[in-house]
Amino acid sequence: MIDSHGHPVAEGGGPLDLSSINVQLAATADERAERARSSPSRLSHEILSVRLATYLDCEVEEVGEARGRASTDWPGYVRGLFADAGIHGVVLDPGWKLEATTAQAERFSELIGCPVRPILRLEPLIDQMIQDGAGAQEVFFAVQEAVRQAPASGYRGFKTIIAYRTGLKVDPESNLERAQRSLDETRGLPPRRRGKALRDLILRSALGWAAEMGMPFQIHSGFGDSEIRLSEANPLLLEELLQTPEGSAATVVLIHGSYPWHEELAFLTLARPNVYAEISEFNLYTVGTVAQRLEQILDFAPTARVLCGTDGHGHPETYWFGAHVLREAWATVRRRWADQGARSSWLEDVERDIMERNTARLYGF
Ligand SMILES: [Zn+2]
Repeated sequence: MIDSHGHPVAEGGGPLDLSSINVQLAATADERAERARSSPSRLSHEILSVRLATYLDCEVEEVGEARGRASTDWPGYVRGLFADAGIHGVVLDPGWKLEATTAQAERFSELIGCPVRPILRLEPLIDQMIQDGAGAQEVFFAVQEAVRQAPASGYRGFKTIIAYRTGLKVDPESNLERAQRSLDETRGLPPRRRGKALRDLILRSALGWAAEMGMPFQIHSGFGDSEIRLSEANPLLLEELLQTPEGSAATVVLIHGSYPWHEELAFLTLARPNVYAEISEFNLYTVGTVAQRLEQILDFAPTARVLCGTDGHGHPETYWFGAHVLREAWATVRRRWADQGARSSWLEDVERDIMERNTARLYGF
């Protein structure tokens, strides 16, 4: 499998706190303690614990400590997990920090022993410039320059988390004048919620730049960590943007299966030939229903435009777990479709496409 979406992991091993594999962010010690108390009551925590206990050959209660012992040779441990999960390539979003670079992707590639294709996330630059008091025009041209420079730095695609900022209802009519006004009128807000018209203008333009460069563009849709306003992350909110020349020209990858809007995502993928559906993240967090969710997407979308990933992050076990869960889910869907009469040669092709070939084609593996 080539993983279509992931993030870097820690640079060293040690005991594992399973409750930190969570969409619930916890900034303070009290919040972390609360999270540690409630986390074991989640199904995904239970299944991950049991499977890791088997992998580490220990009792479920000892997983955290056993992982500490197993990971003393960190690269060896990480590579073992990736090999067991059958992952031999990763599309990597190096992260939320402005200093996240392709050098991180190189270190990650060395650690996991597989090729990695990094993508450039736009928001760290936008947020920093807004925070520093830059004007709309200045931000716009800085992002344009960063996008233009991206291939030379080794990036193979782009990503936006505008869903976490001002939402997916991007106004295609935005211009520089409105962009500046949106900064002026939101001075009292935190930077992440400021400048909607500026962010909308940048995204529409960046889709056009990416299209000219022939590079794919990941758009975060659906659930994420607890900072997201889920009501602003419905992929249907993108319909106006997708109707624009830039939105129709770019290779748009809607990530995370747009959870919980799988059928909406499937429709957008079918209706718009430049839209791709990426499946990741919910295979880490809603493990009881992955086959059902996967089938809702594959049932309608062209499988030639569906990509499978994990959203692995922080701990290499997330890649391992996400890949296994997804593969099992696909096996369930495949059996059902075979029972309905789909040919095994066709099913074999679909499997190769969604697990590997579609991602390899888009990101140049
Ligand atoms: Zn992610």
